[in-house]
Amino acid sequence: MSPGLDGLPAAERELDVSGPVADFLRSVSPRALARIRLGLRAFEWLPFPWRFSRLDATAREDFLLGMETSRFGLHHELLLMAKVFTTLGNAVAPQIEERIGFTATCALADGSAPEPVAPLGATEPAGEEEECDVVIVGSGAGGAVAAATLAEAGLDVIVLEAGESFNRESYPAEPLDAIARLYRDGGLTIAEGRPAIPVPVARTVGGTTVVNSGTCFRAPDPVLEDWRRRFGIEWATELAAEFGEAEDFLRVAPVDPERMGRNGQLAMEGAAAIGASGGPISRNAGSCVQCSSCPFGCEIDAKRGMHVSYLPRAVAAGARLRTGVEAHQVIVEDGRAVGVRCNTTAGGTESRGINRFESRRQYVVRGRLATVVAGGALGTPELLLRSGLGGRQVGRNLHIHPACWVGARYEEEVRGWEGVMQSYYIDQWEPQRLLLEATFTPLAFGGAWLPGVGRAHQRSMLEFGRVSSIGVHLSDASSGRIDLTNAGALRARYKLTQADADRLVFGIARAAEIHFAAGATEVYPNIARVGALTQEKLPSFESTRFKPSELRLEAFHPMGTARISAEGNGVCASDGRVYGTHDLYVADASLFPTSVGVNPMMTVVAFAARIAAELAKSAE
Ligand SMILES: Cc1cc2nc3c(=O)[nH]c(=O)nc-3n(C[C@H](O)[C@H](O)[C@H](O)COP(=O)(O)OP(=O)(O)OC[C@H]3O[C@@H](n4cnc5c(N)ncnc54)[C@H](O)[C@@H]3O)c2cc1C
Ligand code: SF4
Repeated sequence: MSPGLDGLPAAERELDVSGPVADFLRSVSPRALARIRLGLRAFEWLPFPWRFSRLDATAREDFLLGMETSRFGLHHELLLMAKVFTTLGNAVAPQIEERIGFTATCALADGSAPEPVAPLGATEPAGEEEECDVVIVGSGAGGAVAAATLAEAGLDVIVLEAGESFNRESYPAEPLDAIARLYRDGGLTIAEGRPAIPVPVARTVGGTTVVNSGTCFRAPDPVLEDWRRRFGIEWATELAAEFGEAEDFLRVAPVDPERMGRNGQLAMEGAAAIGASGGPISRNAGSCVQCSSCPFGCEIDAKRGMHVSYLPRAVAAGARLRTGVEAHQVIVEDGRAVGVRCNTTAGGTESRGINRFESRRQYVVRGRLATVVAGGALGTPELLLRSGLGGRQVGRNLHIHPACWVGARYEEEVRGWEGVMQSYYIDQWEPQRLLLEATFTPLAFGGAWLPGVGRAHQRSMLEFGRVSSIGVHLSDASSGRIDLTNAGALRARYKLTQADADRLVFGIARAAEIHFAAGATEVYPNIARVGALTQEKLPSFESTRFKPSELRLEAFHPMGTARISAEGNGVCASDGRVYGTHDLYVADASLFPTSVGVNPMMTVVAFAARIAAELAKSAE
C-alpha cells in the first residue's frame, strides 16, 4: 500500500507499520479480532494461486488497482480494511506528519488557559459489593446527565463505567494508543451488511462525548412532534427547558466564521454560491479555534464532554463513579431490578497491550430504588439481552445516520487541521433527510478515505493539506439490529435500502457541487467504480444507479435499540421504564423511536434529564 514516494518512507522497509497496528489490535475483542484475521487471510489469498504478500511490489500495486476498480463489494471492503490499517499505522508516524506538514495543536481563540481539571473522586470499586439508591450503567451523554440530575435531587447514586478515566492531563499522546484506550474495540465496532459500516463508540468515562466533535443541535421540531404523536412521548415537544439548561451549562455557542478555518469556510462559500441554506455549527467547545483532533480527546478540554461537565457536577452532589467496571447482568428479584452484577478489569484500568478480556473479578452494585441502563445504543441492548430483559424488541430498530466522507482537492492550501473540526452545516436538503457538515478528519482517519492505491494513494497523502471534506449524513429509514452471538459477543447488523442509498448518492452529488462552487478541482465521492470526479463528470455520476454495497460509509450516531413505543412495539414506556421489569430504566440514545436526523448528543441529554427528573420525583 505504501511503497515510498517523494520523502514518504516505504512501509516495512523504512517504517514499521505492522508492528504498531499489531500492538493496537491487542485492544479489540476476540470476536472483532477473529473477523479481522478472516479478512486478512482472504486478502492474502485473493490473488490465488499466488499469495498477496509474496508478489513483488509492482504486481501488488497492480492487484490493488484491480480491487479498486472491481465490481465486487467484497474487494472494496477488503481494500478499505487494508487502507484503514496501513493509514493507521503509517499516518501517525512523526516522519509522515512532518513530510505532510500535519500538526494538531488545540487552541482557544483568546489564548486563554483551559479550566482546572475537576475532581471525580475515588473511582476504584470499594470491596466486592456496594449499595446505593440508583445505580447507573454508563457515563456518557445519558448516564452522566441522569447521574447529575438524580444526585442533585438528593439520591445516593453510583455510576459504573467500563472504560478508563482521562482528561487533558492524561489523554494518551499517541493517536493509536488513544484509539485503543478511548474506544470500544479500538473503534472497530462494525455493523455487518452490504456495505459493512463502521460504527465507532467510545468506552471511557464521559462516553462518546469525550471523542465526539462537540456539535450541538436540538432535535428538529417535526421529529419531536412525530415522536409525541406516533410513539406516545407526550413530553417530547416540551423539552425547551432541558435543551436550554444543557446549552447554558455546556456553554454551547456558534463557531465564529472568521476563526473556523478554511475547511469550514470553503463549505460556507460553496453553499452560498449555489444558494444552499446553512450556518455555523453550535458547539460545546467555547472559543476553540483549532485542531481537528477531537476523536482523540481534546488536549485542552475546550470541548465540554461529560467527563468535564456533568460528571464532576454529579460527583460534587455526592455521586460515586466506578471505572473499569463492566455491568454484565441486571439482577432481578421478585420482578424488580435490584442492581447489576459486574466484571472489573484489574485495578479498574486497562492499557494498550493489556487485554481487558483477561484478569477480571466480580463486583455487585445494588440499587435500592432503581437501576438505570445508559450504555449507549450498542451497550444497552447488549446488557438487556444478556439479562434476558426487555422482550423481543430489544436490539431491533437500530438507526445509525449512515454518513459518507466527501473530500475534495483544492489548488489553495486548506490545512484543515488549523481549523475547528466540525464547523459549518448545510440543511438545504433536509426534506430529502440529508444534513451536510463541513468536517475535517485527522490524517490517521482521513487518509484511508483518500483515493488511489500504492503510489497514487501516497501522492494523495502528500496533498492532504489541500484536501477539504464534507460529511453527508442521512436520517435513515433503513434499520439494523443488535444481538448476541452464541458465544455471547455483541453483533451489529444493518441493511441499507436502495432508497436510502439513492438519497446518499444525491447528497454526495450535492456535496460535490458545493466543493466545485468553492473552487475544488476534483472530488472524492467514495463510491466503488468511481475514482475522482471532475465537474464535467458530475451529471453522469448523478444519472448512475449505485447499489447500496457500492457505497463506502461510516456512522457515528447509533440509536433506537431500546426504543420508546407502545408495549410489543418498543422496549420502554415513555418514562424510560423497561416493560416487564419494575424499577429498570433506560436513559440514552437507545430510547429514540426513529432516526433523529441531527447529531444526537443534545437530544440524549434532554431525554436523560427528563427521565431522571421524573424518576427522582417518583422517589420522593
Ligand atoms: C467520532 C464521533 C463523533 C461524534 N460527534 C458528535 C457530535 O459532534 N455531536 C453529537 O451530537 N453527537 C456526536 N456523536 C454521537 C454522540 O457522541 C452520541 O450520540 C452520544 O454520546 C450517545 O450518548 P449515550 O449516552 O447514548 O452513549 P455514550 O455516550 O456512548 O455512553 C455510553 C457509555 O456506557 C459505557 N458502557 C456501555 N456498556 C456498559 C456496561 N455494560 N457496563 C459499564 N459501562 C458500559 C460505555 O463505555 C460508554 O462510556 C459522535 C460520535 C462519534 C463516535
Ligand atoms: S478542535 Fe476539538 S480537540 Fe481541538 S481544541 Fe477544538 S474541541 Fe478541542
